Amino acid sequence: MDLRLTHLINGEARSADAGAWLEVFEPATGQAYAQCPEGSASDIADAVEAARLAFPAWSALPAADRAAWINRLADALEARVDDFAAAESRDVGKPLALARNLDIPRAVSNLRFFAAAATQFASESHGAPGIVNYTLRQPLGVVGIISPWNLPLYLFTWKFAPALAAGNCVVGKPSEVTPVTAWMLGELAREIGFPPGVFNIVQGRGGIVGQALVDHPKVKAISFTGSTAVGVRIAESCGRSLKKTSLELGGKNATLVFADAPRAKLLDTVVRSAFLNSGQICLCGSRLLVQRPYYDEFRDALVARAQAMVVGDPLDGSTNLGPVVSKAHFDKVMACIALARAEGGRVLCGGEAVAPGGRCRDGWFIAPTVIEGLGPGCRTNTEEIFGPVVTLQAFDTDEEALALANATPYGLSASVWTADLGRAHRLAERIEAGVVWVNTWMNRDLRTPFGGVKQSGLGREGGWEALRFFTEAKNVTIDLG
Ligand code: NAD
Repeated sequence: MDLRLTHLINGEARSADAGAWLEVFEPATGQAYAQCPEGSASDIADAVEAARLAFPAWSALPAADRAAWINRLADALEARVDDFAAAESRDVGKPLALARNLDIPRAVSNLRFFAAAATQFASESHGAPGIVNYTLRQPLGVVGIISPWNLPLYLFTWKFAPALAAGNCVVGKPSEVTPVTAWMLGELAREIGFPPGVFNIVQGRGGIVGQALVDHPKVKAISFTGSTAVGVRIAESCGRSLKKTSLELGGKNATLVFADAPRAKLLDTVVRSAFLNSGQICLCGSRLLVQRPYYDEFRDALVARAQAMVVGDPLDGSTNLGPVVSKAHFDKVMACIALARAEGGRVLCGGEAVAPGGRCRDGWFIAPTVIEGLGPGCRTNTEEIFGPVVTLQAFDTDEEALALANATPYGLSASVWTADLGRAHRLAERIEAGVVWVNTWMNRDLRTPFGGVKQSGLGREGGWEALRFFTEAKNVTIDLG
């Protein structure tokens, strides 16, 4: 095995207390290539204690000094962007160029953005005659962050950067499916001498390490990104101790394409939104709703684009789609395609595994898949698949499009394609989603509130929302009389 990962606890690289290891697989080859410590509740206890002891000094630092530490980490990460991109590509199976152009640069931006934001985050004063009334925003103490496998470093940094910037100490648990870049970041933190205990990483299984973090009585808040099923469990556990929670969960996002949609960027963007990262982005548009006069032309063009996509080795510059992340996920996505067929769906392209050969002959590759002929209420159109699989449905009127868009238990994002600005505004107001894009997709500004409604989550991340989540408001009123 080429790689043995460690936890980062109190500034030290440590193996699991229990001495157990998990295998980490390379999705492109189907082979194990690294070992990750299989953490336990006792590793979590050590990390929480280290964070608790580090909190008084870290939270007392001026915001500018905390920002300087976070920026040092960003600089160190930026200097190693190629190494991190290669590691992320190998661990997730995503094309190297995607990791190089999106995941790792965005992780650097997350760090820099929240370092800067912390220096601008002020207390509020509520003036009234004869009264001084102000609201402090104080860090919580030790906070837990739990992240998924689809954008490993991108989402890990998106959570711990605001937590640290606001003055908290962090225990982070990356996904056991893709633990490598979080471990590498821990190594960078050690290299630059990041204050010990402020930022800890405990590797291991969700049901053990994640659950121990959620249940630990000294952990004041949990910021979680992952599936709705696990999010609900976490909400239940946190509810019992009234722990603050931020939950970013699953999606089943609609792309609404009207006949008047401006054509210039339409197909390029819709194809990206359907299949980027093999459809394994919570924001991917997996339900394509198309106005009837344009339906046939759009469907044929989409299928031609999907068929032209290169599914293959993530290291190959011509690859558009790498494998899906794991054997378990491959089996799940293939079962979803079988279900779609059983529900009466017509598979227009894809629908099968791909064997690129060579070093990738045993990898978990699935062809981009487009399915039509299914109604809004079936499982294929209401349950999250999280793979390179999209469905097509036709509509006539705005009301019909809206009803289809809202016909799932999820409500993360939607994108609307139309030249009619009035229609865009009306729909944006009524679509049940936390994020709506018009004539674009995944156009993200880190200052904006990010999160979902319905089964897609609770709370918002990004900008001030994140800093408010990671602080407690305390109102102080003084009568000057
Ligand atoms: P998952 O829920 O299986 O796991 C997410 C994390 O939770 C992992 O680190 C896992 O180890 C941990 N975990 C599992 N059980 C736990 C428990 N009982 N207690 C504490 N932690 C536990 O999700 P996944 O398969 O890694 O990721 C895919 C899901 O994430 C999809 O549903 C996707 O939509 C969602 N996602 C949402 C967003 C968003 O911003 N809304 C972003 C990315 C991914």
